[in-house]
Amino acid sequence: MNEREPILSVRDLRVWYGTAKGAAQAVDRVSLDIAAGEAVGLVGESGCGKSTLGRALMGLTPNSAAHDGQILYRGQDVLQMTKRQHHALRGPEIGLIFQEPMTRLNPLMRINDHFEETLRAHEPNLGREEIKRRSLETLGHVGIPPTRFHQYPHEFSGGMRQRIMIALALVLKPKLLIADEPTTSLDVLVEAQILRLLKDLQSEFGTALLMITHNLGIVAEACDRMAVMYAGRVAEDGDVGSVFANPGHPYTRELLHSTISLSTRELSHIPGSPPNLVTPPQGCRFHPRCPDAMQICTQKVPVTTHPQPGQRVHCWRHGPDELIPEGGKAPLQQEFDHVDEA
Ligand code: SF4
Repeated sequence: MNEREPILSVRDLRVWYGTAKGAAQAVDRVSLDIAAGEAVGLVGESGCGKSTLGRALMGLTPNSAAHDGQILYRGQDVLQMTKRQHHALRGPEIGLIFQEPMTRLNPLMRINDHFEETLRAHEPNLGREEIKRRSLETLGHVGIPPTRFHQYPHEFSGGMRQRIMIALALVLKPKLLIADEPTTSLDVLVEAQILRLLKDLQSEFGTALLMITHNLGIVAEACDRMAVMYAGRVAEDGDVGSVFANPGHPYTRELLHSTISLSTRELSHIPGSPPNLVTPPQGCRFHPRCPDAMQICTQKVPVTTHPQPGQRVHCWRHGPDELIPEGGKAPLQQEFDHVDEA
């Protein structure tokens, strides 16, 4: 796996939300490392828990959420931090770029006021000239000219607003940047510009990046490693090249095939839909949709295997043979047929 020293280590993290129908297991036993200067992509369908995980890393889950496990940032557990420690963490240590920049920028505040508010929240004694200097310097990095410094958010395009959000996250020089679907509402050209910008900034400042997205193309473009989430769990993680070349988990494989064919114009998709997280399926949560499912998949949580260096897969198909019952590698449907005949 990752050989560099991690600045962030997630260990067996679980997050539940209280709902009227019971506890929803939004994140279930997730472990993940991010090293300094590394870009990690977190992918999966909507509702798979990737945004909940991103928010949990900053201590931003709602009060109704319960947690278990550890989130170690430079050795300190984020889940055990006080409010004061969380405040010191968010911004100078871990920055967050939200999706939908228009809803995150205050329409009544000019851009200079957004920067002043952000900087003063962490450095209250900073002088006005220094605030201006640092703000303009950071805006320059994302291609916003000084002449736009006193304008309101509505005077900028969607792409420029997202650049401003990135600058607001970078002005405190965080060691880790979490970008949650940072290009969702942007057209493809602006998306390409934002991705290039994030890459350039990352190599210039050595910032680690966690890119949360449903778009595998973005991961291929911007990340060194990736983790694929399904129904709150990590199905597979590893180097981007290894996972794309040899996806070990059936869900990753199906996700990579879920594209429009240029020749037939047909959309290939994964049949079925993600499970209800209040009552998720037993065993492997993907088994009701998995073309490779076996009987054991309906009963036991899959073991972790390493099909090749730099790759970790949670799937019974890669499990040690001694753990798989005789004839257990037959497709699940055939096994059900056999039981019916008996
Ligand atoms: Fe499919 Fe079983 Fe692997 Fe889950 S554990 S992905 S159901 S083969």
